[in-house]
Amino acid sequence: MIRLDNVSKFYYSKGVIAAGFSKISLDFDVGEFVAITGESGSGKSTLLNVISGLDTYEEGEMYINGEETSHYTEKDFEDYRRKYIGNIFQNFNLVNSYTVYQNVELVLLLAGVKRRDAKKRANELIDRCGLHDYRNAKASKLSGGQKQRVAIARALAKDTPIIIADEPTGNLDSESAADIIKLLSEIARDKLVIIVTHNFDQVEPYITRKIKMHDGKVLEDTKYDREEYVSEEAKPTLAVANNIRFPSMVRLGVRNAFNIPVKFLLLTFVFIFVTLALIFEMSIYQSEVYENGLLGYNYYFSNTSENRLVIRQKADDNSYRALTDEDVKTLEKTPNVKIVEKYDVLMDNQATFEDERGNFYIYGIAQNLKNYEFGDLDYGRMPEKPNEILIATTKNSYTIPSSDKLIKEFMSTDLYKYSRAGWTRDDKHPFRVVGIKFIENSDSPVIRAYESIMYLDDSIIEEMRIDSNATFSRYKILFQDVTYSTDMMWPMFNILPSEAVESGTCWVSDDYNMYVKNGFNAQGKDLKIIVNNNYYDDELNLTVSKVYNKQSFTSAYQLENGQRFEDVKGFILVNDKDLNKLYDKESYQVCVFVDDAMQVDKTANDIRDLGYEVLIIRDTLYNDGEGAILQLLNKVIILGVAIVLLVISYFVIRIILKSRNVYYSTIRMLGANVGVSRGLLIIDMMVCAGIGYFVVVGALKLLNIWFSSTYILKTVTEFMTIPQYALVFAIVILISLIISVRYSSKLFKKSTMQTIKEEV
Ligand code: ADP
Ligand code: MG
Repeated sequence: MIRLDNVSKFYYSKGVIAAGFSKISLDFDVGEFVAITGESGSGKSTLLNVISGLDTYEEGEMYINGEETSHYTEKDFEDYRRKYIGNIFQNFNLVNSYTVYQNVELVLLLAGVKRRDAKKRANELIDRCGLHDYRNAKASKLSGGQKQRVAIARALAKDTPIIIADEPTGNLDSESAADIIKLLSEIARDKLVIIVTHNFDQVEPYITRKIKMHDGKVLEDTKYDREEYVSEEAKPTLAVANNIRFPSMVRLGVRNAFNIPVKFLLLTFVFIFVTLALIFEMSIYQSEVYENGLLGYNYYFSNTSENRLVIRQKADDNSYRALTDEDVKTLEKTPNVKIVEKYDVLMDNQATFEDERGNFYIYGIAQNLKNYEFGDLDYGRMPEKPNEILIATTKNSYTIPSSDKLIKEFMSTDLYKYSRAGWTRDDKHPFRVVGIKFIENSDSPVIRAYESIMYLDDSIIEEMRIDSNATFSRYKILFQDVTYSTDMMWPMFNILPSEAVESGTCWVSDDYNMYVKNGFNAQGKDLKIIVNNNYYDDELNLTVSKVYNKQSFTSAYQLENGQRFEDVKGFILVNDKDLNKLYDKESYQVCVFVDDAMQVDKTANDIRDLGYEVLIIRDTLYNDGEGAILQLLNKVIILGVAIVLLVISYFVIRIILKSRNVYYSTIRMLGANVGVSRGLLIIDMMVCAGIGYFVVVGALKLLNIWFSSTYILKTVTEFMTIPQYALVFAIVILISLIISVRYSSKLFKKSTMQTIKEEV
């Protein structure tokens, strides 16, 4: 079935041509048990390698079942070897980390045999080769004789018609050697077995043919007549032309991942390192971007929480319409919306309190007491009366005094509320802070670092709302056909509420007499107050019912502590209820705080889809360009670090993979092509990469639960969203993929023979 016709093999090394063997013509057939002898260097191994298809020949022709092979490609030889050849080597070439069973099974799985069939056959062969008791022993733990039995079982597994053994007993003691030879002779009954041996006496009783080589030539070729000798045309009997089945590939890949614990740990460790580094990098980058986004400030919004959205809606006439509780409900149902504050105007007018002597000056975002949600208090109790305050604040805020003693004093001091953006303090109504709760900055979307929330009674919130409208309004006074804008520096056109003034009228100072065209008396003249702010326009038509002097003014308006009549002379006194009507308006602007600030753009779009106008406060912050340069620099640095990191891990993994060369050249010898090797390596690496990745993500999650307040952990996890975790995962998997592909194609650039000779 194999015929060599004047075949020669030359080696070229360093410009010198050496003959492995020359002009050899031989014929081999099934049922033959051939022993090749000859001194070292006579060309025995070279001949076997050419017959095995492990090496090429340069001259002559080799026929396989009559087919010429001189035109064969590497792949044709791979197929040939897979179908025809079982190799046995002097140094066994077993996978040392596999058990006996796994070694035999390996070759069957690589040949595309189903797992269940492979199991049956492997066990049969293990029994036949006398390895029954060692089925589950690691190959590395076996004696030389046992190892060679495994190698024989493996060579028989595919049921190839040709078994080629190059000095199979070279590393064995004489007893084991005799055993092995006997086993091979039994096999030779229905196969062609060719062995190279130095111990001819040992094989003589069994062989059917002896070939002696000398200096690359056949010196002697003797055939013995044996009764066992059967000659028949041999064809591959097993369906071995198939490639490995996918489930088997996965099984082997996963087995390889865990097979060698040191290798597994090293690889996984590298991937842990890569994952950690990527996550750190990504979150540092994210937090930089984020912080830069918050660097800015703006002139209109004092609550610049990144969670804040401001919402309005235009009516048909293109003016802004008043928003209702229905709108609030609709907004509350939008995903990621945490808090809907019907009166947005409250958010930019902080509740401000101070004690009489100015020792304690506190301010915070006003929230309705009903919305308190942080549980047990750290100090005091829940408010019960309208003038009692509960403060929720971060520990390091400036709102709460630092010592227990001072906190006690603070909570037993009367505080007075400021109104009109902090320029009048109402000293008539004392408040008390009765409860304090420390929260984390991240607990409430309403606040940013060092800020506080004042939980107040409904009625106080209501006052604040009206007061806030007043604070953010501009006025014009229309008197005697002349329009005057109000101006803090020019009190004449400012307005004060007074219960003493009758509804529909107002009191003015005698300065107004000068603006009256005829008669120099403002009394009885019309005065119009026009209010306008970001939300609405309104006006109040009044008649001047009195031109006040110091005495009448002080009877209608009580000056505050330290305030002199001269400071307020010129103010217009208006009936308090009339004035309230100007500011007690419905809500024209609603405020939404989202749960997850990272999703604020998406939520804004969701709300826009509902027909509202949405302003993202984060985007209104004024940023001065320095941030943009910083960001670019960051990006460059981060990209650089990422590349360095990947290159380092690439080389580390390559070093680790070097130890796998033996394995891959072995499976190649057993018939695995580049695709199979690549597939196995990819699965192997991906298992390690995946485990490394999930170890890191899991550990971060756990650490985050156990040490939730550690700053660095928070920075890491706070900015990592699911798409970002997915991105890190994709990068890690990509790295393992690239390395696997590169490594396996490098391995297959060399010829089969090279890899076996180098690595074994
Ligand atoms: P044997 O197995 O009988 O000891 P070999 O087949 O290994 O002999 O070697 C036959 C001849 O080919 C020797 O002269 C040896 O030096 C040479 N040879 C074998 N392999 C190579 C090689 N890879 N490169 C160059 N020369 C080689
Ligand atoms: Mg040799």
